[in-house]
Amino acid sequence: MRAVQYREVGEPPRVVGVEVPEPGPGQVLLQVTAAGVCHSDLEVMSWPAESFPYTLPLTLGHEAAGRVVALGGGVSRVGVGDSVVVYGPWGCGVCRVCSTGRENYCPRAAELGIRPPGLGSPGALAEYVLVDSERHVVPIGDLDPVTTVPLTDAGLTPYHAIKRSQSRLYAGSTTVVIGVGGLGHVAIQLLRAMSATTVVALDVREESRELALRSGAHHALPSDGEAVSAIRELSGGAGASAVFDFVGAQATVDLAANVVGMDAAITLVGIGGGTLPVSFGSPPFGAVVGTTYWGARAELMELVDLARQDAVRVHVERYGLDQAPEVYERMKAGRIHGRAVIIP
Ligand code: NAD
Ligand code: ZN
Ligand code: ZN
Repeated sequence: MRAVQYREVGEPPRVVGVEVPEPGPGQVLLQVTAAGVCHSDLEVMSWPAESFPYTLPLTLGHEAAGRVVALGGGVSRVGVGDSVVVYGPWGCGVCRVCSTGRENYCPRAAELGIRPPGLGSPGALAEYVLVDSERHVVPIGDLDPVTTVPLTDAGLTPYHAIKRSQSRLYAGSTTVVIGVGGLGHVAIQLLRAMSATTVVALDVREESRELALRSGAHHALPSDGEAVSAIRELSGGAGASAVFDFVGAQATVDLAANVVGMDAAITLVGIGGGTLPVSFGSPPFGAVVGTTYWGARAELMELVDLARQDAVRVHVERYGLDQAPEVYERMKAGRIHGRAVIIP
């Protein structure tokens, strides 16, 4: 089968031929129907060889949708032919945290060598992908895999972050979304579907600000120093009660700290390497600062149900598997709008 692999640190990914995997006990083999492309892969491919955490070559792609084509021994709760999406942040499945479905925070996964598809295990930018457990597939029925697959990360990650800040999203509050790409434009739709907060989107790109407004943002502004006073004004002087930073660069983290009011929540989702010093009174009194990683199993199921109600519509750009290396180049150049989805 064809697969898109990162083969050597510093080299661009390549389309190569590899063996179709066979499902072992407990595993599920999917024929990939769609695979989303995430900015995190660009981060992974920028890491130096000395500290690179995964074994190469690595088949990329951590947003997966597929049709079940083969079952390993003992698999009984999914059937051949089912159309599914894959829950990616695999955990051990049996610890206390995993038993609550929050496998994204499994404290044992690293020590057990359990890695998500595309982020350590062979990923979905291929004709077939292996899922380690039937626990990690969510049936999508007749939903379109191409527009549904981004829910597994571009949807799940903001959904999880938003749920953690939900008490701050009251009517009359102002929420700031920084970075309106794959994750950000879904975050705006989720904020509108899940709360009565006023959404202000910030992005450096004009096209992204347009996408923000089409996604339901009340306001969309350039991401610069002037945004600080504009947000103060829009919030009646109070500042934002929640900020979701889907960039995480030093400039956006600084901006996040400057636009929040008292008792606000700043969530750093983007992995751009910015840091936010916390001391008494800065950010303002009562503010909480946190990071989030991906989301919980039940949250992906909830999102699929939200998609069924038409509450989220991912803006997708469609590409073939052979175009994947070019898609990464386009993403690096800021030329992808919404989510790029590969259809093998
Ligand atoms: P993307 O490339 O689709 O979108 C990024 C957006 O940010 C673009 O619209 C771009 O114009 C905008 N942007 C860039 N610099 C900016 C700045 N200084 N100010 C305002 N906007 C700016 O990326 P994506 O796939 O949506 O991923 C977003 C971030 O989230 C990445 O850092 C990614 O690695 C990270 N991520 C984190 C998790 C997690 O679990 N924490 C999961 C998925 C992705
Ligand atoms: Zn991702
Ligand atoms: Zn666990």
